[in-house]
Amino acid sequence: MCLRRERLVARRFASDLASCAPRIKTNALNSAAASDAERYERRAAVVTIVTPFAAVFLAIWYFWGNGISGLDLALMAFMYTVTGLGITVGFHRLFTHRSFECVTPVRVALAVAGSMSAQGPILFWTACHRRHHQCSDDVWDPHSPHNHGPGIAGVLMGCWHSHVGWMFNHKPENYIRRVPDLIRDRRLMAINRWYPAIVIGGLLLPGVIALAITGRWAAFGSAVLWAGFVRLFLGHHTTWSINSVCHLFGGSPYETGDRSRNNGVCALLTFGEGWHNNHHAFPTSARHGLRWWQLDGSFILIRTLALVGLVWNVRLPSPEQLEARSFRPQLDAEVVAANPPVDDVVPPSVRPTSPA
Ligand SMILES: [Zn+2]
Ligand SMILES: [Zn+2]
Repeated sequence: MCLRRERLVARRFASDLASCAPRIKTNALNSAAASDAERYERRAAVVTIVTPFAAVFLAIWYFWGNGISGLDLALMAFMYTVTGLGITVGFHRLFTHRSFECVTPVRVALAVAGSMSAQGPILFWTACHRRHHQCSDDVWDPHSPHNHGPGIAGVLMGCWHSHVGWMFNHKPENYIRRVPDLIRDRRLMAINRWYPAIVIGGLLLPGVIALAITGRWAAFGSAVLWAGFVRLFLGHHTTWSINSVCHLFGGSPYETGDRSRNNGVCALLTFGEGWHNNHHAFPTSARHGLRWWQLDGSFILIRTLALVGLVWNVRLPSPEQLEARSFRPQLDAEVVAANPPVDDVVPPSVRPTSPA
């Protein structure tokens, strides 16, 4: 019985790996698999970006006649927080940078909550972000606002590309090479496979809660609109502003070899992710707000979970590392397009093999 179950699990795992096959072959130029994967990503990007955008217009029209209820506002705040922390604590600090370890239920909950944000399946998100760190602001960076030509046209093109445009011409990542640690995790592979269903579940969940509380289908509809689609729109653009705004506007107290910036407004909207220059200086740190006044909601959650024993091995920079990084002998020199050492992006055990 046990053996049969193991065989079943092995077969399921093999089929999950097969679903990565197009990504494995993407280095083979002009291969059919590569263009299939590219086409799929492009269509997914259109649906992901356009649908919430259209829903915002519907919400404005709905607001005109009906306003917005306190329940809808509360559900929108609740879903924004849950799914936002799924991205910042889960997809980013845990799965991309492995800045702490945790019990399996927390790992699964963070992966599901992050998937509800509809920013792409976990393998896609993590692979793109690891490449962003490894190639930050050079030509291999998937979403740098720089290197898009001179003058105001280049700046505008950079803003567009780094915020959403990159998703329309992104070359599919090689998952086997870039996220081998995630591929080895059967639970994460299942969550990756069920991504579309989880996104739909995240849209319907506030509606179900509203229906349970009020017993009215109208409340179900308005909750899906506000706490489902409008929440998705807000979560998308605040997260994507880290790629665009936080590589353009703000201070850079640490020398990182790229153009990452600390931006307090973005940090407030993204549970601490806006302390982006700090993060590029210490990518594996679980804490991004490194000063006492730099509010970092994600780290507050990690620390709370650590206090109750659900999280451990929380990685933080030592005082010596903080001191060493803040030494900037040529503060105002032209920023060199050098990459941070790969060791700094992810722990050595899961280090990608090359930037391409
Ligand atoms: Zn960055
Ligand atoms: Zn990162």
